[in-house]
Amino acid sequence: MKGILYVVTGPSGVGKSTIIREVLKRFDNLVFSVSYTTRPKRPGEENGTDYFFVDQRTFMKLKDRGEFLEWAQVHGYYYGTSKSQVEGALRQGNHVLLDVDVQGAIKIMELYPDAVFIFIAPPTFSDLKNRLMLRQTESEKSLQRRLEDARWELSQAYKFEYLIVNRELTSSIKGLESIVVAEQLKISRMREFLGQITP
Ligand code: ADP
Ligand code: 5GP
Repeated sequence: MKGILYVVTGPSGVGKSTIIREVLKRFDNLVFSVSYTTRPKRPGEENGTDYFFVDQRTFMKLKDRGEFLEWAQVHGYYYGTSKSQVEGALRQGNHVLLDVDVQGAIKIMELYPDAVFIFIAPPTFSDLKNRLMLRQTESEKSLQRRLEDARWELSQAYKFEYLIVNRELTSSIKGLESIVVAEQLKISRMREFLGQITP
């Protein structure tokens, strides 16, 4: 079976990183694609684990060299997915999980129609606001910007295949975990195996 690309998206503060972090621990053959960003590093984040933190000049150089599978300007900074990282991991037979913004996910729908597209939504808009505030990572300006962007992002959810409403964290983790497993069991991804059963 070929490696599967899982694309997780949703508004900032909805809980994507928290859910993804837990799901990654549950699968040996599921790898996270570490993106490049020009956003400043938050306390506790590590270069090479959360993101590759680069300046704008380096980002543009990588973009011009065609290193990104997709890239986008999100909430005022640049973010890009490494093409070699994703393709390398898939080639080695791993499944790959991406955490990208909604524009990025929509671009990937055209590039990788076989990928699995998952949208994470908050129970209510005020839950989203509270989570972003409680995370204490954003200035007032950045928080307002992320909430404004969330309106358009939420309007795009109907384009996705799966919707996880992140109420209870444990249910959301189970939801994403179930999607990861179910997609691997699809007949359409198992044809090669089926052909090999009968001697
Ligand atoms: P994102 O990666 O989507 O920007 P995070 O994973 O950083 O979001 O989560 C934003 C904040 O919400 C964090 O402080 C996180 O601990 C919290 N959080 C995540 N899931 C839940 C949940 N189900 N209920 C309450 N708080 C949550
Ligand atoms: P944050 O700054 O909160 O880490 O991320 C902001 C937004 O950028 C999130 O919606 C996240 O999914 C998105 N993002 C992270 N990496 C990438 C990427 O490589 N490409 C795109 N398009 N978005 C990304």
